[in-house]
Amino acid sequence: MLIHSFVPDSRANGPGLRAVVYVQGCSLNCRGCWNPGTHAFVGKERSPEQVARTIIAGASALDGVTFSGGEPMQQAHDLLVTLQTIRAAVPDLGIGIYSGYSPPELAAGRFQTRQFADQTERARLWQEIQSYLDFAVLGRYVEGRPGDLPLRSSTNQELRIFSSRYSATDFAPLEIEVQIWSDGLVQITGFPLLGIPA
Ligand code: SF4
Repeated sequence: MLIHSFVPDSRANGPGLRAVVYVQGCSLNCRGCWNPGTHAFVGKERSPEQVARTIIAGASALDGVTFSGGEPMQQAHDLLVTLQTIRAAVPDLGIGIYSGYSPPELAAGRFQTRQFADQTERARLWQEIQSYLDFAVLGRYVEGRPGDLPLRSSTNQELRIFSSRYSATDFAPLEIEVQIWSDGLVQITGFPLLGIPA
């Protein structure tokens, strides 16, 4: 699995305190994407078990984990194994993803992924992944359609809730989070484009 970066504790990517895994690789090329460094499918391969272990190690302090990117569904098989491993070890951890694919695209298997070529198989893969999710934010980022919808950077995107773990009121209005690490790295996550005219 190609991983761009990992944030151990964020409050801007879903309910409560969450780890965030940014996968590496996305071919959707949304105009105005503010994370273009995640687009190339490059970097060191990690096994899904390795990725899951990183989350599991810090899980006792967390409400959940969110997978973002990059495009998590373009590494769908690895994502599924990662989710299965996390759920088996820490069933109480909430799990969410961002995907640039829309609900109809995912349901029909109309998405690209590195591991599966067959559309029927891809549709089944999404069904399996969905069974491990508490929520997902779905759809392309469309430049020039900002709003104040929780977790969504353009108003066409949909927040889908798949379990009883969360309700709509658990999702906070958009916010920006800035983390300054001891090595001087400044990491910005959340929705820094809100309020900036397109
Ligand atoms: S799906 Fe996400 S990461 Fe990919 S281009 Fe669109 S906004 Fe960027």
